[in-house]
Amino acid sequence: MKGNEKINYAKVIVSISNKQVDRAFTYKVPEELAPFIDKGARVVVPFGRSNKKYEGYVVSLSDRTSAPENFEVKEIISLLDTMFTPEMLALAKWMSDKYFTSYSECLKCIMPAGISYKNSYIYEINQAIPENATLRQKEIYDYISDRKEASHQDIIASFGANASNILNGLIKNKIIVKKEKQTMKDLARLVKYAALSEKVSKESIRKGTAQEKVYDFLLEKGETPVKALKESLGITDSPIQSLVKKGIVKLFEKEVRRETARPSSEVIEKNIIWNDEQREAIERIKALMKENKSVKRPVLIHGVTGSGKTEVYMSIIEEVLKEGKEAIVLVPEISLTPQTVGRFVDRFGEKVSVTHSRLTMAERYDQWKNAAEGKVSVMIGPRSAVFTPFHNLGIIIIDEEHEHTYKSETSPKYDAREIAFKRGEISNALVVLGSATPSVDTYFKAENKDYELIHMRQRVKGEMPQVDIIDMRKELVEGNRSIFSRALYEAMKENIEKGRQTILFLNRRGHSTFVSCRQCGYVVKCEDCSINYTYHLYSNKLICHYCGKEEQNPEYCPQCGSKYIRYFGVGTQKIEDEIKSLFPDVPVLRMDMDTTSGKNSHDKILSAFRKGKAKILIGTQMIAKGLDFPNVTLVGVVAADVSLNAGDYKSGENTFQLLTQVSGRAGRGDGLGKVFIQTYSPEHYALEYAKTGDYEGFYSHEIALRRQMDYPPYCHIFTVLFTGESEKKVIELLFKLSDIMKVYNKSGDFEALGPAPALISKIKKRFRWKIIIKCKDEERLKNYVLYCVEKLKEKENLEGINVNLTLDPLVSV
Ligand code: ADP
Ligand code: ZN
Ligand code: ZN
Repeated sequence: MKGNEKINYAKVIVSISNKQVDRAFTYKVPEELAPFIDKGARVVVPFGRSNKKYEGYVVSLSDRTSAPENFEVKEIISLLDTMFTPEMLALAKWMSDKYFTSYSECLKCIMPAGISYKNSYIYEINQAIPENATLRQKEIYDYISDRKEASHQDIIASFGANASNILNGLIKNKIIVKKEKQTMKDLARLVKYAALSEKVSKESIRKGTAQEKVYDFLLEKGETPVKALKESLGITDSPIQSLVKKGIVKLFEKEVRRETARPSSEVIEKNIIWNDEQREAIERIKALMKENKSVKRPVLIHGVTGSGKTEVYMSIIEEVLKEGKEAIVLVPEISLTPQTVGRFVDRFGEKVSVTHSRLTMAERYDQWKNAAEGKVSVMIGPRSAVFTPFHNLGIIIIDEEHEHTYKSETSPKYDAREIAFKRGEISNALVVLGSATPSVDTYFKAENKDYELIHMRQRVKGEMPQVDIIDMRKELVEGNRSIFSRALYEAMKENIEKGRQTILFLNRRGHSTFVSCRQCGYVVKCEDCSINYTYHLYSNKLICHYCGKEEQNPEYCPQCGSKYIRYFGVGTQKIEDEIKSLFPDVPVLRMDMDTTSGKNSHDKILSAFRKGKAKILIGTQMIAKGLDFPNVTLVGVVAADVSLNAGDYKSGENTFQLLTQVSGRAGRGDGLGKVFIQTYSPEHYALEYAKTGDYEGFYSHEIALRRQMDYPPYCHIFTVLFTGESEKKVIELLFKLSDIMKVYNKSGDFEALGPAPALISKIKKRFRWKIIIKCKDEERLKNYVLYCVEKLKEKENLEGINVNLTLDPLVSV
């Protein structure tokens, strides 16, 4: 509370993920807490008929309540901390609206993970267990008795789910009691320190003793962690304890922030002289930052790989720091870009904090506090770093802005770029996007002057590798039925002989399979959607995963009449097998979903490869980003067709991005790099433009197609995905939803496609089907779909069905 105004009531968002309670509730503020509770405070409140205790967030304070007179207003139980700045509260409110998620879920998403206050049940012994109890009862009784108290979870974990019945029996007979317990992980790390008390003298200490050593040490060094003190002097606790008893030394606890590992770049850059493009980019961005506008226009830097974008980012950040402001840098995946991160660390030293998914909860909590308290001023990390609680944010930089990792796959399904724009608006900070292959949506906005567009067309050093597109239809006609073309095989052989490394890359996502002709390259597609059909093995049918249309699998190619028309099914395993038979003595590593399920397995594989433990690395697109290996001089894209025909309107865009990324990385140093792209559709525009690295050429082709087919950015797409164990129920309900949608679509402004199977039609026993709705107006589309889904929920029982709503998905479902 500020000043003398009297604040008695607080509006509190209760942390329950339930749409029905997604509003603020009024609570009384107890007098003793009033001076400490502010907007953004985290509190504990009673809720519901049983007054169960929940975590809550204070969103406003007032000296009166709008509750009716006879209404009992409950009281806040305790204060946990002040978690949110007003800016963060506003951001969460906006998110809950934008991503149709509850306010409390959005607040939790912003908060560092793992610090939530939790309710759990524990059991305690009430009286001795009778002799005639069963063995199982006695076991559980002993378990609790040994521990004094045991949580429900622990008992179930040790004795299985049916222990619940036994527990209930024991409670009924008053042998044990059940109690509610609240826990909040205290993530602050307290370290025990020793220091000399004030005004002490050495008189009572005998010369030459351990006590004297402690005294001298503390006198010289000042307060020291007890552990370090003992280690330095090689002593036990006892001399310290004796000194404490004499009042000469005092012990106390101090909160210490954990040091987290930070990568460092191996090459130190000195005396960088900006080239013309860099200087111009930096000047323009500086000018934009100085502009006195309430909302700063975002910047897109479109610069080829190696054009010196990172250098531009760092120079701009220096300016930001000079003005006493802070910077957030988002990168797609820290573990795959250690060199880039290392350059920031080298440049900004102690001012930088690096966050990533493998930090412990406690480490992340420390980083959050360091940022909130202004102990660091540059945060680098993946999408969640966009929530860094800086108070004086100057800039948010999003590198490789086209990457899918910026969009969260779990609720709230936020897009870090959208969050960045919103934060930029709230804090009047500048947002800078950078990419060699901007997403079509972003480039479209830049062309339409929503963003400032800066081009960087020249590589600072080194040359683009040579890219060859290999026509696999010719290989077949000339009698080569192997996965590898003759040219790629020869190049691999030569590379192995020269002791260099090779990467074989299968740009595959999901499990989609399509049907194509190996003789002429024809791909069977749905003419309505201009999307290729997906082959379903069990029904031997072709299904369009956009509109749901079905067709028989053709026996002969409709274009050339050949019988070489069948589903396309190359996997990384098959590539590995073939490599092993072609080059039996050559060590090979494989990186895909199967080999990377273990903890840190990514890093292990990549670092083994970096150390030269294998000559060939085979992998899916997850290796595309990590292609910064100096000894890799050859990259083979085994089948560009896999992503080209992924059954998605973004297939062309994704393929172009992947191939450009691959080409941009190979042979970064001495210009030795060579890239082979194998395909059955060499004339596809995405491949042609990727070969020359012509982004603008690609973009104009792609945007024309989007306009023609009415795909984003010319419309918005809403995906409604239902999943459930009963496929029949999933489909039935989607058809019912589709009927409701027809009723409310009198104007015909909404175009619905489906129901159709999701791109991945079954995951973990659950069937996945979807409806896609298109409309030009985002707000109307959202309202329409949410309304229809609500109507369905009112009418039908959706038990066992998971409803998944995504507006403008980055990756099609
Ligand atoms: P990008 O981020 O566009 O891929 P980088 O900023 O990583 O490009 O630059 C590529 C390489 O060129 C890096 O090794 C970087 O240190 C170096 N570099 C960048 N700018 C200059 C410069 N003006 N003079 C010399 N080297 C530079
Ligand atoms: Zn054919
Ligand atoms: Zn279709």
